[in-house]
Amino acid sequence: MSRRRQIYEGKAKVLFEGPEPGTLVQYFKDDASAFNNRKRGIITGKGVLNNRISEFLMLKLAEIGIPTHLVRRLNMREQLVRQVEIIPIVAVVRNVAAGSLTRRLGIPEGTLLPRSIVEYYYKSAELGDPLVSEEHITAFGWASTRELDEIVQIALRVNDFLCGLFLGIHIRLVDFRLEFGRLYSEDDVRIVIADEISPDNCRLWDTRTNEKMDKDRFREDLGRVEEGYQEVARRLGILPEGGPTDFKAPKAMQ
Ligand code: 5GP
Repeated sequence: MSRRRQIYEGKAKVLFEGPEPGTLVQYFKDDASAFNNRKRGIITGKGVLNNRISEFLMLKLAEIGIPTHLVRRLNMREQLVRQVEIIPIVAVVRNVAAGSLTRRLGIPEGTLLPRSIVEYYYKSAELGDPLVSEEHITAFGWASTRELDEIVQIALRVNDFLCGLFLGIHIRLVDFRLEFGRLYSEDDVRIVIADEISPDNCRLWDTRTNEKMDKDRFREDLGRVEEGYQEVARRLGILPEGGPTDFKAPKAMQ
């Protein structure tokens, strides 16, 4: 890892130059942050679990023709991904009221929404990722109307697919956040899902008990944070062999 050139360090991941042009290595850390970095901590083993969970979900999406940046998982904490031009907009899809929706509109947590709602946020740490409208996005040139159409279509297809996948293991997909990138090839540009899909950016509740199994356990100090992530991986059938002791990478990698 030390021999690679670091391109970017985020709150939960590090990006390194990849082995071939147009590729990057995405390294998953155990660091956790919330409330625009005002709360920080370590969730032991999170990086290993999110690497597996995101790989699993992105491979499933690829199977139904939804493009992602993932090439393949390399090891416990790293994936090889395609280098994309990140679109400065994230899409949040909501099925059940939670988080900022409940705070902003006063809708009680747990309310089933009349239909799935897609929201857009402008990626800006200084501004705290503000909610924006399609008008802002196209007027300021963050994405074109055609790109936005593609983004909403992808987001809703992902939602339908993941809702079904998670329901099969008794998990409700309350909401999730997707990042997108432009993947350039010789003759066209495609929009693909970037970043990760994991309990860090999805709200996942047990359908029988409504227990939270995602980063809200950390955000809301609910305790047993690691267990929530482990249980998601276990139900998906991808808990790393060797169980929890397998999660800690060698010291140099942490
Ligand atoms: P909310 O807007 O309710 O806080 O979050 C909506 C969804 O987006 C939740 O699934 C939440 O986990 C995810 N999300 C919101 N902000 C962030 C962020 O800064 N990083 C990540 N990884 N996910 C986020």
